[in-house]
Formats: sequence, C-alpha cells, structure tokens
Amino acid sequence: MYGCELWNNCAASDVARLDSAHRFCIKHMQSLHKSISTDYCMCVSNASPIETYMDCSKLKFIGQLCILSPKYLVKDVFHNRLLRYMNLENQRVGFMADVYRLLGKYGLLQFLNEYIETGLFPTKFTWKMIIDTTVNLQAKLDVAQRHLRSDQYNLLENVIKPDNGSPLWDIARANPNLLTACPFSQKCSLCNLILDNITVHLMCFCTTNDAQRNRLWERVFNRIGIFRFTEFMSMSALGQTVSLLKLSSENENGRFSNFSITMAAVQLLKVKVY
Ligand SMILES: [Zn+2]
Repeated sequence: MYGCELWNNCAASDVARLDSAHRFCIKHMQSLHKSISTDYCMCVSNASPIETYMDCSKLKFIGQLCILSPKYLVKDVFHNRLLRYMNLENQRVGFMADVYRLLGKYGLLQFLNEYIETGLFPTKFTWKMIIDTTVNLQAKLDVAQRHLRSDQYNLLENVIKPDNGSPLWDIARANPNLLTACPFSQKCSLCNLILDNITVHLMCFCTTNDAQRNRLWERVFNRIGIFRFTEFMSMSALGQTVSLLKLSSENENGRFSNFSITMAAVQLLKVKVY
C-alpha cells in the first residue's frame, strides 16, 4: 500500500482487485478456507476493508500537510493546489478533489474549512484519534454488525468482539497446542462420506469416532446436568452441534470457560485437511 495516499484515479475494478488480494491474505494468514465468509474473517482478525486502509492513509496525509511547517516547499505546493481547487470549481479529479471527497464522505470537512479560515488544525495525535474513531472503528463496527445480524444461532457471541481480534486467537496464541485444522472439506477423511455439513457429521454421526464423541457427551452431561442434557438430546443434530460449539467457544479473560468440553470437541473435529 506504499504511496496509496496519492492514488486518486483508481478505477473501481482496481480497488476490487486489491480487495480480492487483501481478502485472500486475511484468510490465508488465519488458515481459514477461501469459502468462509469474508466478513467473518475480517471480524476475527480485527481487519478493515482495503478501501478503509486507503482512506485512512489519505486522511493522515492531509493532516500531515496541514500541520507541516511553512518553511517546506511541499507546504507551498499544497496551498497552491488548495487555492486552485477552490477557484476552479469544476475540478473533478486529482489530489484536492480526492481530499474534498474523503473529508465530505466522513463528515470531516469542517477541519479543512477551519484550517483555511484560521490556519489551525488538530495535532498529529488528535487527528489520528479522529480518523481511527470516525473511519476505522466505524468500518469495523459496520462489518461486525452486518455479520452478527446474519448469525441466526447466535453462535458467534463468544467468537467475535467488535473492534478487537477474536478472543479465540488470544487463547490460541497463548496455547499453541490448541490450534487445530478447521474441517472445511465436504468429504469426511475418516469414513469417506461426501457431506453437506461436515461439522454436524463429525459431532453427531461419524461412526469412526464414537469413543471421542462419548467422551464429549460425558463431559457435556457433567457440565450441564441431567435436565438440560435431556433438553439437549431432543434437539436436531444441527441444534446439538450449534450448542456444542457455543459451549466449546465460551471464554472469559483469555481462558475457555468449559475447557474439558472444548478439548473434547477439538479432538472430535480434528480431521485431515485436503
Ligand atoms: Zn465420517
């Protein structure tokens, strides 16, 4: 992204290609399969869309120009461009047009207007805080809210924390032995069946891992008691899987709340990745 502050004639197709590469990297660095929702991958890694990165860089650059000492030639060039833009209203492309578009997009135009009138601009630190809150944080919250709204089973309440990386990554960082491959193949490597939902299959049906499943059921029974367990057993296979994943991902202060269940579930889901 070096020099993206001055990219002001990017076509939508250029941004789309950059976005595609960005999404690939976000998924690859977390070992998440390319078919997994981009919004989910963004939320768990606390990343922003590529356009937001570009917008933030440009806005920071504008701030640097405004607070730059007048002894530098760059400052004269900036003022010259600013004056020309203000006098030539039809200027639709170029650096200054981009500056006005971005400041308008995020409701920050008053800072430039004040600079033009008084020569005053927020300090570097304050401007960074303003950008982080107005642009970066807002973009992350938008993605997280959009994704959480689509989570019909409320499965992600322990996995996604808006404006933070997933707490599961924090736990995994402190306990690398807990990292395991996610089952994303449509074919079970244990019994060779082709499946619609391999997670449900491994949790409830696969005949080759009965011992691990019994261990998990036993721990769930001990944890939730007979009444909730009876309720649990009357659910559909999907409902049981969702409940098991929720119990397994419950965490607080960097620790899993039901560690023995988490370990048993991880053992059950450990499959060979194709
Ligand atoms: Zn199987």
